[in-house]
Amino acid sequence: MIFLKSDEEIELLRISNQIVAKTLAEIAKVIAPGVTTAQLDRIAEEFIRDNGAVPGFKGYGGFPGSICTSVNEQIVHGIPSDKVVLQDGDIISVDCGAYINGFHGDSAYTFCVGEVKPEIRDLLRTTKESLYKGIEMAQEGKRLGDVGNAIQTYCESRAYSVVREMIGHGVGRDLHEAPEVPNYGRKGNGPMLKSGMTIAIEPMINLGTRHLVIEKDGWTTRTLDRKPSAHFEHSVAIRKGKADILSSFEYIEQVTGTI
Ligand code: MG
Ligand code: MG
Repeated sequence: MIFLKSDEEIELLRISNQIVAKTLAEIAKVIAPGVTTAQLDRIAEEFIRDNGAVPGFKGYGGFPGSICTSVNEQIVHGIPSDKVVLQDGDIISVDCGAYINGFHGDSAYTFCVGEVKPEIRDLLRTTKESLYKGIEMAQEGKRLGDVGNAIQTYCESRAYSVVREMIGHGVGRDLHEAPEVPNYGRKGNGPMLKSGMTIAIEPMINLGTRHLVIEKDGWTTRTLDRKPSAHFEHSVAIRKGKADILSSFEYIEQVTGTI
């Protein structure tokens, strides 16, 4: 069942997502060689709680962190750890959730650590651009296949691969609601998009093979060939003519500049 949100509910979702956006910017300020992913997790949790919210991921399905920290070949769901020390040239995808007023915010961004190789920066740039290609299609009267197709076509035309097993989702009172939002698909296929639907669109795009492995910890998902993977996510409300993006990369990019 897909829940349509009222205008008031969409404003509450915006509040949750703006806390996420600002949390990711706090993380951006400290990402550097020598920093551990556990340090990032502590900063995120403290900032989320200082803003009156609760980390939406902590305890979700037993996940131990407030954020997911996925380094290099890790695609998503990396567990923050004091053993993971960021190195110059790494990339790190940080996925963050904040829960307040009964609604979940959900957004992710992939950061560069120090000097990153141009071919990997290109992967990040394309993944972020593909998210906005998908968002362009996320409007009333289009279908979910149009969103996935836009992301897939854009990334595959640049010879990257699209992860299939992990996808976006509806978002609202629950972190994961219907519908499923794949990052691939056929034009004109899938559920019709209606004003008031709120979805998290989150391309996970690989430099090499699309295939993945889940590590023994039961969470960390990495590419089979250990080549890098990027992940960008916005929560959006479907509207007529144009999606309303509820999360934001603006605060992050005030810190980092654009990729
Ligand atoms: Mg997320
Ligand atoms: Mg999500």
